[in-house]
Amino acid sequence: MKSELSLPRKELVARLESYGIIRSPSVKKAMETVPREEFLPEEFQSRAYLDQPLPIGEGQTISAPHMVAIISEKLDLKKGMNVLEIGTGFGYNAAIVAEIIGEEGHLYSIERISSLAEVAKKNLKLTGYDKRVTVIVGDGTKGLPAHAPFSRIYVTAGAPDIPESLKNQLEIGGKLIIPVGSSNYNQELIIIDKIGENKFKSKNLGGVAFVPLIGEYGW
Ligand code: SAM
Repeated sequence: MKSELSLPRKELVARLESYGIIRSPSVKKAMETVPREEFLPEEFQSRAYLDQPLPIGEGQTISAPHMVAIISEKLDLKKGMNVLEIGTGFGYNAAIVAEIIGEEGHLYSIERISSLAEVAKKNLKLTGYDKRVTVIVGDGTKGLPAHAPFSRIYVTAGAPDIPESLKNQLEIGGKLIIPVGSSNYNQELIIIDKIGENKFKSKNLGGVAFVPLIGEYGW
């Protein structure tokens, strides 16, 4: 079930495009296609197209649309990719990535809080992305060796360091995006390119504020 392109969604996408945040046709189409209201608790659905993070319970948040757009653009996603997300939340970012990688691709998404993962599964089914996304309850800091290597890995919670497990599960030519910082809600968004076996190039994309990544190789 994909909803009609509503005016508020269209306006938000146009604004993000005018700021230079949305640049590619594939990210634009995904942001125009996925209904963010379906990934929010009922009481916040009327705020779906304000560009802000919103609470989803358990002290967690759905990321702001501009952050989802930045991550999606920087990942340079292509149809058919095998992708890993750490931190499913209610599944919005997962749906955007699933829309871009298409039916030929697959997204594995790990969430440590089972009640959130259950809602994400329901939301992804309702919006028709459940065949392209597998939601798994667990500690995403360990990655998902059974389905590695991944073309892309992205983490939507802030880590103290970049887990080696995630770097190892990236294919050569792959990209990893992760917020890294010394304290909660104060991180730098880092992008890593795997350029060879145990060879990485990293770049700082700027300051961000994510909930903490909690796990064996997190906080
Ligand atoms: N991707 C989400 C979206 O579309 O809005 C963002 C969700 S929120 C900013 C980050 C999520 O990461 C939270 O739901 C939190 O429970 C989860 N998380 C934190 N540490 C984790 C870990 N080690 N493994 C899996 N999920 C984790």
